[in-house]
Amino acid sequence: MTRPEPFEVIVVGAGPAGLAAALYLARFRRSVLVVHDGQSRALRIPKTYNVPGYPEGIAGVELVQRLTDHAVEFGAVIVEAQIRSAQRSGKGFMLTSADGRRWGSRALILATGIRLNQVDLPHAEHEAAIRADILRYCPVCDGYEHIDSKIGVIGCDSNGAAEALFLRQYSRDITLMPHSHSELSREQITELDEAGIAVVQGALRSLSPQGDRVDVVLDGHDRPLSFDVLYPALGTRPRSELAAGLGVVVADDGCVDAGAVRQTSVPGLFAAGDVVEGLDQISVAIGHGALAATSAHNWLRECDRHTLQAAGRKKPS
Ligand SMILES: Cc1cc2nc3c(=O)[nH]c(=O)nc-3n(C[C@H](O)[C@H](O)[C@H](O)COP(=O)(O)OP(=O)(O)OC[C@H]3O[C@@H](n4cnc5c(N)ncnc54)[C@H](O)[C@@H]3O)c2cc1C
Repeated sequence: MTRPEPFEVIVVGAGPAGLAAALYLARFRRSVLVVHDGQSRALRIPKTYNVPGYPEGIAGVELVQRLTDHAVEFGAVIVEAQIRSAQRSGKGFMLTSADGRRWGSRALILATGIRLNQVDLPHAEHEAAIRADILRYCPVCDGYEHIDSKIGVIGCDSNGAAEALFLRQYSRDITLMPHSHSELSREQITELDEAGIAVVQGALRSLSPQGDRVDVVLDGHDRPLSFDVLYPALGTRPRSELAAGLGVVVADDGCVDAGAVRQTSVPGLFAAGDVVEGLDQISVAIGHGALAATSAHNWLRECDRHTLQAAGRKKPS
């Protein structure tokens, strides 16, 4: 479907941030289109236990479906397409998809998320290891589920050191391993040592999921190291290309500034969720969605107030 006439707001992204924004906008009685390319990270969560209100846990697929149904119930339109470019058009925005469809809007919310830097495993094996709970990427999300487990962390740099130290709250048995080489400073090695975290050397040669465990082979080690769970700490790549293309300043790590939830340097453009710097969590993404939607709604109200005032002044008395 191509709709050249503008929606009031387009949201790019149908993860927790984009869908929460769409719900709020629909309830603010705005015409809202959500465009997404089916890549919400939330869809990969076997079961999350830290989304408030779900003490028994909820699968990511089910959560996204509920958020989708909720937004649609109040009038949001949802379309699957990959947005290739977003440009200013008059006072608004024009989005073009990879297959050539175009949509216009007065305001735009980018809730485009991030991509994980992952360990090198065939896709199906990688996703099966996530589902089997032996490969995890987010200690904040699921460290609790691995209390007293034998935990491996991959990445001997500041990221990996911070993740290993964070996980120390849950287990005494933590081993930090390099991905290719170690970049740990002497201070970091001392801190890890004092926390009782083992640091081993040798570039990662291979990983092999083995039922409910995962084996790791490192250069220079005869035998694999075996873990209950492995946390690669290899960083992320925010999907901020659309924001950057519209002139929003993107930080060195690729994230959009936190202020973008309320406004960006581009009038009518807002951002929400993981693509914004801060804690990459569902609750935060939903909060961002609510804030960005309310900011967009108030921005439109303000524009319309000026338009009405201008029209009023022109009225013959
Ligand atoms: C394995 C795993 C487990 C996790 N566990 C938890 C957990 O237990 N608790 C928790 O709070 N968090 C967890 N997370 C993190 C959580 O998934 C994210 O914080 C959350 O999904 C962020 O929401 P978001 O809407 O910002 O981004 P996403 O959910 O990633 O959504 C981004 C959206 O943008 C769309 N998009 C991006 N670019 C384009 C484009 N150019 N064109 C069209 N569409 C585009 C994508 O298709 C997608 O719909 C986990 C993540 C993973 C991978």
